[in-house]
Amino acid sequence: MSVRHVILDRDGVLNYEAPTGSYVREPAEFRWLPGALEGLALLRRAGVRLSVATNQAGVGRGVMSLAQLAAVHERMESEAAAYGGALDAVLYCPHAPEERCSCRKPAPGLIEAAVARSGVSANESIVVGDDERDLEAARRAGVAAALVRTGKGRRTEELMGNAAAVPVYDDLPQLARAIIGMSHDHT
Ligand SMILES: [Mg+2]
Ligand SMILES: [Zn+2]
Repeated sequence: MSVRHVILDRDGVLNYEAPTGSYVREPAEFRWLPGALEGLALLRRAGVRLSVATNQAGVGRGVMSLAQLAAVHERMESEAAAYGGALDAVLYCPHAPEERCSCRKPAPGLIEAAVARSGVSANESIVVGDDERDLEAARRAGVAAALVRTGKGRRTEELMGNAAAVPVYDDLPQLARAIIGMSHDHT
């Protein structure tokens, strides 16, 4: 499989998650996980498109505003670009679970939208997440998935065991190196 497009979950994959029940509401609260910027840059330099697909129910619950979310993403995007890992698209679901939208993972809407916007086929895309919801959204969108052991990842790995049936990596840079290696194997 040659990967030309990586669809990344945000919290627990790129940045430290906020404590359960709270949200990253301000740019200052967005803290990159170790190696995440490097992982993005590795992929970008290899010509891989980068999308972010993130549930942000704090908006729908009235805990944070869309403007606050935009400010957080502005910081994320500018720092990623400055490091050489510019993001092609940042897609988010702002809805609360009770709204029953089609974009909140595990629904497949965000993943489908990321694929459509990327111009890369679902077959050459992969979802990277730390939560069972990410893997389920990928499955329902017909896109491969991988789990990282950052964020909720270790717990997800324990809970799902072999049922996850997806490759597992310690973190984003390890996954990035594997993807780049994979692409080279087939060229
Ligand atoms: Mg996550
Ligand atoms: Zn939604």
